[in-house]
Amino acid sequence: MFAALLHFKLATTTLAGWMTAQSPMPTAAPVLALLVEAEAQSPIEVSLYDGNYQVETRVLLERDGSADADTVKKMAFAFRARGGSEKPLSPKLLSMVADLATQYGRPIEFMSAYRSGAWEGPHYAARALDFRIQGVDLRTVRDYLWAKYSEIGLGWYPTEQFLHLDSRPGIPDCAWTFLNGKEHYHPHWEVTARQGVKRERHRPGS
Ligand SMILES: [Zn+2]
Repeated sequence: MFAALLHFKLATTTLAGWMTAQSPMPTAAPVLALLVEAEAQSPIEVSLYDGNYQVETRVLLERDGSADADTVKKMAFAFRARGGSEKPLSPKLLSMVADLATQYGRPIEFMSAYRSGAWEGPHYAARALDFRIQGVDLRTVRDYLWAKYSEIGLGWYPTEQFLHLDSRPGIPDCAWTFLNGKEHYHPHWEVTARQGVKRERHRPGS
């Protein structure tokens, strides 16, 4: 719904631009090419829903996970640690968030992002997100991410109903299922989700 609306807005805005700037009207082919190009390069509107505070934040994210300064600030606040401290999430992680918004066109509901404190780990380095996509089966999102990306950590929490996703540049992939209070590494889906994936996997943000 969301994505379709955005596309419509883009199309009408682009056409309006042509109609005022160009005379006479260009033929259909260049307009179509322009629309396709605009769609691939334009930022995506993302709805971030804080599952703890039940607050929605809407942002415009570039496909590579970058954003303008105001949006970076807005996201740092939305993704702040429990104690209130802020650290912007890594663009590589946010590029995957932009991809998920493009793919599913639904709000991304998150439970945990940046965590402050003395611990090490991807949440503390602001490159991890615990989330679900409203209305989409966790396993669908899990398999989509695992099939497409490398240099990530991906945990499936079926009882708690969320996925942990982190970007880990230069570090091998890691998948796990969290059940009965602990991580089970090398789950069955680690293999099945990547079966038949012949294309080279993306590194987040590339
Ligand atoms: Zn996590």
